[in-house]
Amino acid sequence: MEAIRAGYDVYELRKQFPVLQRELKGKPLVYFDNAATSQKPKVVIDALVDYYSNYNANIHRGIHTLAEEATAAYEASREACRAFIGAASTDEVIFTRGTTEGINLVSHTWGRQHIKAGDEIVISTLEHHSNIVPWQMLAEEKGASLKVIPINDKGEILLDEFYKLLSSRTKLVSIVHASNSLGIINPVKQIIDAAHQAGAVVMLDGAQSTVHLDINVVELDCDFFAFSSHKLYGPTGVGVLYGKRELLEAMPPFHGGGEMIKEVTFEKTVYNDLPYKFEAGTPNIADTIAMKTAIDFINELGKDNIRRHEHALLQYGTELLKNIPGVRVMGDVENKVSVISFVVEGIHPQDLGVLLDNQGIAVRTGSHCTMPLMQCLNITGTTRASFAAYNTFEEIDRLVKGLDKAIKMLS
Ligand code: PMP
Repeated sequence: MEAIRAGYDVYELRKQFPVLQRELKGKPLVYFDNAATSQKPKVVIDALVDYYSNYNANIHRGIHTLAEEATAAYEASREACRAFIGAASTDEVIFTRGTTEGINLVSHTWGRQHIKAGDEIVISTLEHHSNIVPWQMLAEEKGASLKVIPINDKGEILLDEFYKLLSSRTKLVSIVHASNSLGIINPVKQIIDAAHQAGAVVMLDGAQSTVHLDINVVELDCDFFAFSSHKLYGPTGVGVLYGKRELLEAMPPFHGGGEMIKEVTFEKTVYNDLPYKFEAGTPNIADTIAMKTAIDFINELGKDNIRRHEHALLQYGTELLKNIPGVRVMGDVENKVSVISFVVEGIHPQDLGVLLDNQGIAVRTGSHCTMPLMQCLNITGTTRASFAAYNTFEEIDRLVKGLDKAIKMLS
């Protein structure tokens, strides 16, 4: 049944994930913390072992075989990332440590260069701390100000309010593509087009969207886009910043050091071409290579198939959870990725999380690095179940049962 719905055999797929074979508290692990980080298939783990076992070498500098193999695999990953997000050129694909570093790169380079006293940076109420704090720091340094797009009761961005915020002072709009706390997909195309009309540059935080949605940065016409490998079945510690060529070319480097230079004298340095200008020092070679394996894995499974399966899980879980007395699903809208965030009347999410963990069910509890959103929704935090390609309907049944038990114990 699940195999048919998904377009692939979910049970066969699960066999490819070593950690999913694990038992927790005497029960098969239910892993519903995929929005924090997804589990890794054996092919990704093997890619790391293969690199360190067979061709570990520093890249770009050596002429020996190992260095050439490592460089080829590293650059093949850049091409896989380019295709994955529909960028025009690999020159526009910069490897980073992840979404957070991508946003910080833009705030430190483009931001320092372009933001002046009196300018405005627009973000939304839904932002992750990584898309708030770097802009707050920049605004403080430059005497600029941060404007925040309000949301409605469900958590949807109020586009009319956004349009009102735009003016000639707006220099940057930086928006989360899909909310990690509520799962809501933001109307980014409208946001990008309106921001451009106002003359602003637009950055998208793609940490949550990249694994679920088809991304095409050229069609979106965003100026910057950041994502992390570890949310798409790849290793931690690596990610991508996409930037439009003309912007990247005009930006100063982020870090200084080896690799980002063409020529150095004590008087002056000539910086390297894109994308290397932004990749100082020895990068995270193994994880970058294995990120390609993760992208290949997703492409082989088919994003459409994964999305269909995850959406079915989302609908099934949302209906069941909504029917539990005292449970309120937050961000319950049509257009969302596979995240169910909920509060239970009179029960602290932390207590719920502990009792679910005792039953072998991993969910996330708390503010999900979106404290201002929680304040706006007037809650301290939520319990969040987020689904990936390998989750099953039976696991959702276990969550519902576990929740029932936990609520009875805590009431
Ligand atoms: N933005 C969003 C929406 C996220 O969900 C996350 C990760 N929780 C980040 C940014 C930061 O990603 P990373 O920790 O991989 O840099």
